[in-house]
Amino acid sequence: MRAHLFYHSRGTPHFIFRSLFFPHLFHGVFTTNGGVSKGPWRSLNVSFNVGDGSQNVLENRQRIKEAFGVSRLVSANQVHGNNILFISQQPSSDVEEQGYDAIISAAKGVAFMIQQADCQAVFLYDPVRHAAGIIHAGWRGSVQNIIGDTVRAMKENLGVKPANLYAAVSPSLGPCCAEFINYQKELPQMFKKYRVRENNFDFWSISRDQLVNASVKPEKIDIAGICNLCNPDFYSFRREGITGRFASVIGLY
Ligand SMILES: [Zn+2]
Repeated sequence: MRAHLFYHSRGTPHFIFRSLFFPHLFHGVFTTNGGVSKGPWRSLNVSFNVGDGSQNVLENRQRIKEAFGVSRLVSANQVHGNNILFISQQPSSDVEEQGYDAIISAAKGVAFMIQQADCQAVFLYDPVRHAAGIIHAGWRGSVQNIIGDTVRAMKENLGVKPANLYAAVSPSLGPCCAEFINYQKELPQMFKKYRVRENNFDFWSISRDQLVNASVKPEKIDIAGICNLCNPDFYSFRREGITGRFASVIGLY
């Protein structure tokens, strides 16, 4: 499916996927714009771990909650692993859990957030079970197939049938910029077919295929097709070094 992204410019600006327009579901990919951070983090940095002041980050996160009218935000302090955080009910305060790279839940009124600056956020939604998931997938996550693990976890914990899932891949490093000069050491042999130039790989197609292998229907998969390194509206670690993290968020009402 071809991506249809809309730019939502009122309040704190963010992109939304037309393929994820469902009642009682909210989601968005935020940009560098609309926050209070200064310098290399200007302005909507959502990470506490990149040198920005924590008061700025708290205010930026507050604006993201306000964009959806929810009072709780759950994030993962991501480690490029494949641990999946299952949230069974709305927490009494905001939570950032250490050591997870995906969040799944059917709890309402909570913004589930992934922080990124080159890596992908993969959105998952099952309208039958009204359950959501969001994945942080960098190349290490792709190698470990965290996408497949998360779909399985939604099946086991939330009764989701993969064929009912809708999936979307956020702006992230495109084949234009996903250069891996050490790919022979870092990437498995099976990724070779995704090589588009000498050292460049198409991680969007890797994610699509991992979703299909996890029994998500191809027609329900949406790829934003926006490279964050080519587009200054998104932070890029590869482009900037010291920089912020942008937010991808999903949640249920
Ligand atoms: Zn690019």
